[in-house]
Amino acid sequence: MNHAEEHTLDLYVLNPELLDADLRTALREHLDCCAGCRNLAETIRAFYNELDRHLSGPGTDVRILMRRIFPAPPVLRFSPSGTTNRTVSVGRRESEGAPAGEAQDVLLTRSSSGGEAEITIRRSSDGNACTITLTPNTFASAEGGIVSFAGDDFHVLLDESGEAKFSLAPEQQAARWHEREIIVRFPVAQLHASSARVRREGGHTIVDRSADITARVLSREGAIDITIPPATPERQFHFLSVNNPSRERLLIRLENGAGSIPAESMPEELFIDIYA
Ligand SMILES: [Zn+2]
Repeated sequence: MNHAEEHTLDLYVLNPELLDADLRTALREHLDCCAGCRNLAETIRAFYNELDRHLSGPGTDVRILMRRIFPAPPVLRFSPSGTTNRTVSVGRRESEGAPAGEAQDVLLTRSSSGGEAEITIRRSSDGNACTITLTPNTFASAEGGIVSFAGDDFHVLLDESGEAKFSLAPEQQAARWHEREIIVRFPVAQLHASSARVRREGGHTIVDRSADITARVLSREGAIDITIPPATPERQFHFLSVNNPSRERLLIRLENGAGSIPAESMPEELFIDIYA
């Protein structure tokens, strides 16, 4: 027989009884003599074993696990040539993803240059409320992605559903996305700062060797200052987002590696996502 298809091998490993008996026999014989397919079957088996081990572990969050196995790429580019659908101001249609009763126009649908994800921009029927949705194909979650329009200082952060909502006048919308490249960034590292250390040391220096990042966190009246010098001239950091349990996630644009988070005081724990 020819080499086995990956999804057939997948079935053979997981649910062999679902396969036709002849195919099962042919596969078994093929695996005996073909090292390539045998390796693939072993990889599939190891993957499911690993998954099983994690899923049965105590307190495992499946979403966190999936994000670890299928991480988002640091940068995705959506060039205008990747546009697969554009409906601009002509006619209205109820989009499938819209909540019942809320009419929305689909303004734009684009694929990333490597096909890793699709991006869709919708507009409510009143014209100002927009929604950007990122749908991943090759990674687990779009949460925490920052969407930017090339040459424009306009950036939004995607929530846990891979969506961002914002208001924009229709004439600004047209100028923003028609001919522009859309760039989506995902965190390259997450750092953790604690108020105890910031207080004790008059500033907290966090070193993440695996990501080659050194960050300095300082607390002053009304703000927390974060500085992240470039690791190398080519490796600069442009954004960060912060999350603490009591507050909404904030997006901060870094200027020369420095940014400030408005805050009355340093929270006990601060999780800082860093973007290239
Ligand atoms: Zn083979």
